[in-house]
Amino acid sequence: MNVHDKHKPLTWWEKTYLPGVLAGLWLTTRHFVRNMFAHTLRALGMDVKWLGSVTIQYPEFIRPLFPRLRTHHRLTKRDDGSPRCVACMMCETVCPAKCIYIIAEEKPDAPDIEKIPKSFDIDLGLCIFCGYCVEACPEDAIRMDTGILEISSYGRKGMMRDMQTMLALEPKSKRYVEFDDEGDVVSEPFVEDLD
Ligand code: SF4
Ligand code: SF4
Repeated sequence: MNVHDKHKPLTWWEKTYLPGVLAGLWLTTRHFVRNMFAHTLRALGMDVKWLGSVTIQYPEFIRPLFPRLRTHHRLTKRDDGSPRCVACMMCETVCPAKCIYIIAEEKPDAPDIEKIPKSFDIDLGLCIFCGYCVEACPEDAIRMDTGILEISSYGRKGMMRDMQTMLALEPKSKRYVEFDDEGDVVSEPFVEDLD
């Protein structure tokens, strides 16, 4: 429906709701037949590139994620366990949602590192997961490859993440798709304990 037609009075035919019902039935039937056809051909062992739709029983089964998907942030560490971040504020400056809050302090014991973060907080309730912070970082100190999507809280404070939390996170590579030599996806949905 054209947005300008929204306030037009309904015709007697439209008032019967039959056009809408028939259109919905047609759409559902078309998808059903299309998917059934694809799944039947695959069940018969035919090499069908065209995948039928499937239902994934989330959260028992999790759909593998594509590597470009941006998920929960983590902060990377140096060999000694200290944060790679040098508190340059590039990410905080570039963040369009203004949801990164860094307090810097000097690092006197390392002559080649001027500053480190004293605190590094991100408010995920404001974050729009644009990935600009990752792109802007000159030290590869922040990444969004944890595979954690289940981010929720009963309150706004629960959406804050501090430096220790983000330093403790690891890349969850097994949650991402694997490709074969020809570039086709080989991963299947899998069960994962989300705790
Ligand atoms: S992903 Fe975007 S909005 Fe979120 S913290 Fe990074 S720069 Fe800010
Ligand atoms: S995470 Fe990267 S861009 Fe952000 S303050 Fe640290 S070093 Fe700079």
